[in-house]
Amino acid sequence: MKRLSALEKKIVHNDEYQSPGKLRVVCDTMLQGTGRYLRSCGVDVKIMENHEDHDVAIQSGLKEERIILSSGNPYKKILSHVGQDACYDVISQGAQDQATEVLRHFNVKVTPQDIFSRCQVCNGDEYVKMPSSDMTILSDRKDFLIGSGDTVLSLTSNPYDNQSLSKRFEEEYGIEFSNLTFMKSQAFIKIELIPKAMITKVDWFYVCATCGKIFWEGSHFSRICDQFSHILTLTEQDTNIYDHILNS
Ligand SMILES: [Zn+2]
Repeated sequence: MKRLSALEKKIVHNDEYQSPGKLRVVCDTMLQGTGRYLRSCGVDVKIMENHEDHDVAIQSGLKEERIILSSGNPYKKILSHVGQDACYDVISQGAQDQATEVLRHFNVKVTPQDIFSRCQVCNGDEYVKMPSSDMTILSDRKDFLIGSGDTVLSLTSNPYDNQSLSKRFEEEYGIEFSNLTFMKSQAFIKIELIPKAMITKVDWFYVCATCGKIFWEGSHFSRICDQFSHILTLTEQDTNIYDHILNS
């Protein structure tokens, strides 16, 4: 049987699931992919950049009260600085299995609502939900701004450059229509990354208000749901899977 950390004992004893948003972690550099998966499941994840060494992870963990995820020798070093309640040694191979291990270890219940509650790219947790019709308007605006739009349209006038539209985008989405940025974060909306044909095929888009990255349910959402279906299924059962793991 795997030896349990004090934190795991505490969680199992309490017999309670926690929501992904309650789990705050730092991913060491070798777990960057794992961190992105965990974000997709709604976990609050800080990911170390390649140039940042383990000391930075330790400082972030202590300062921001995040559990540090690492493995191998770097884990041993981190353990000696912060103690076992503040770090965790990920032993699985491959980012998806590693993310699953972490979710199970920390008794995290992932629901479909948690999927994409947090941006994979920047860890932001604020999304703007936008219908295809408005995304089309933004795409046309982008074309107009870079001068590669429909020639006839460009030579005549920009049908969208009017005050009522600017006001609506500002009020509904917090978006500055003139330059396609979020007013609060100043992030550019990354419309150029969506295939043109996709804009009319998808009903709803989710734009990260922190970094401007755009997601949509058809591909991103289903892919993550599929990849973590075992977790979603397991945690939706009433039985305590941790009892099962502990007794196996
Ligand atoms: Zn983002």
